Amino acid sequence: KLGNETLKAELGRAAWKVLHTTMARFPDKPTEDESTALFSYIHLFARLYPCGECAGHFRKILEKFPPQVKSRSSAAVWACYVHNEVNFSLKKPKFDCDHIGDFYKCGCAGEEEEKGK
Ligand code: FAD
Repeated sequence: KLGNETLKAELGRAAWKVLHTTMARFPDKPTEDESTALFSYIHLFARLYPCGECAGHFRKILEKFPPQVKSRSSAAVWACYVHNEVNFSLKKPKFDCDHIGDFYKCGCAGEEEEKGK
């Protein structure tokens, strides 16, 4: 069965947005506990992602490229990189990860004051 490509793409856009925005708000200098939490979150995301075919594919990417959870920038660049792996397999254009730092905003209180930190 083919499934519904429109819904699958909508789910994907929403999921990537949450994932990248989570990285953009992750601490610059996380505690051990915060790094462990992010590591678990990414693995659970890959385990429970509702598109089973996508999840299976993403778990293989995680095995090859384990989550980088030691800082905000390493987590953000890692997520950008694995999203590019998915883009590549779907024949989508590569995103420039050098500019990932300014791209994802949450609209949350305190976001602007943190800029440049
Ligand atoms: P998306 O890839 O959804 O990206 C949304 C926006 O994010 C883009 O418009 C761009 O502004 C930005 N962006 C693009 N690349 C990056 C990047 N590298 N880093 C940061 N931001 C970026 N679909 C399938 O058909 N088969 C699959 O196996 C599959 N696996 C998936 C696995 C995961 C974990 C997720 C979250 C989604 C998966 N999808 C899969 C969905 C697919 O990745 C897209 O979300 C969907 O096809 C919609 O694509 P899009 O062109 O709108 O942009």
